[in-house]
Amino acid sequence: MKVGSALLVDQDTGRLNRTWLETLIEDLLRLRKRGQQVILVSSGAIALGRRHLGLAKGSLRLDESQAAAAVGQIRLAHAYKELLEASNVTVAQVLLTLEDSERRRRYLNARATLESLLALGALPVINENDTVATAEIRYGDNDRLAARVAQMSGADCLVLLSDVEGLFTSDPNKDPNAQFVQQVRQITPQIEAMAGASASAVGSGGMTTKIMAAKIAVAAGCHMCIASGHQKHPVSRLEEGARCTWFVPHATPATARKQWIAGTLRPAGAITIDKGALKALREGKSLLPAGVVAARGRFERGDTVSVLGDDGTEVARGIISYSDVDAARIMGRKSSEIEGILGFRGRDELIHRDDLVILGHETPESAQASQ
Ligand code: GLU
Repeated sequence: MKVGSALLVDQDTGRLNRTWLETLIEDLLRLRKRGQQVILVSSGAIALGRRHLGLAKGSLRLDESQAAAAVGQIRLAHAYKELLEASNVTVAQVLLTLEDSERRRRYLNARATLESLLALGALPVINENDTVATAEIRYGDNDRLAARVAQMSGADCLVLLSDVEGLFTSDPNKDPNAQFVQQVRQITPQIEAMAGASASAVGSGGMTTKIMAAKIAVAAGCHMCIASGHQKHPVSRLEEGARCTWFVPHATPATARKQWIAGTLRPAGAITIDKGALKALREGKSLLPAGVVAARGRFERGDTVSVLGDDGTEVARGIISYSDVDAARIMGRKSSEIEGILGFRGRDELIHRDDLVILGHETPESAQASQ
């Protein structure tokens, strides 16, 4: 769930719309109660902080917005902590930059952290790390940040709540014939042209950034929805059928990720496994260091590598959790020995089953996916 500044912060007073936020949080907690995992991407730091620094008017220079974010983020985090802890939910603050979602190693770290937080029952509240991000490493808008978070966490649904109801064929404020678009199955140049440049007064994202976010989300197999959050209980309203625009993916998050792995043009290296490991992989298990007999090529944690059978044919492809140097040291060994050999406790698996694609052989999972 992504909430924009225009909803969170009152435009006249520069204060948090607390009553509204309480209703959003009630909605999110209801989703959690029925077993859904929720991540919140929240804007509002700059909008909240600027008033306290006497920067209420006009557009801000980059350093001014970064200063405002520093002041606003702590207030925002405080509000989330208060509201969520009142319901006994632990809140976790995660501040990301563009690099964290695009550089592979950082991406893996952020992904693992989010996974752990969710598994431990915390509710991650994410924003851009505005105070340190320079122009080149900034998203600048939380729509794309939210789409990257959806991608890295394997989310199946992303909702962008803002001050717009969704996508129109043209600007409804100027064109009386503008039609509402309920569903987008393909993001064509025509759809992109509809987006125009419709930035709202408070946040930084317009419809264009929302379409860019939709491209990222849909490619990752995630449904995305643009909806107005102006009313209280915005998520309940959506579930009751409030108007919004849906972007529909063509795959699930798991298959999209696997297609991406299988489509890697040049795997960075190759590891050879024994017959027992091959059997385990085909049963849908992860690849453990114990089943590896050789490794070649130069790779880093997070690179895609080929997995070869003992006759040298490629049997799988996957994202490896260790570098070539570390993989060579732990191959053939038990996972419980990893810490003793490398001096740190990494993953038990060399390639986790979620990061592994079996080639030319039906796995329990692929059989299920094709049903
Ligand atoms: N990260 C910015 C903030 O918290 C918001 C960016 C956006 O509005 O999309 O103020």
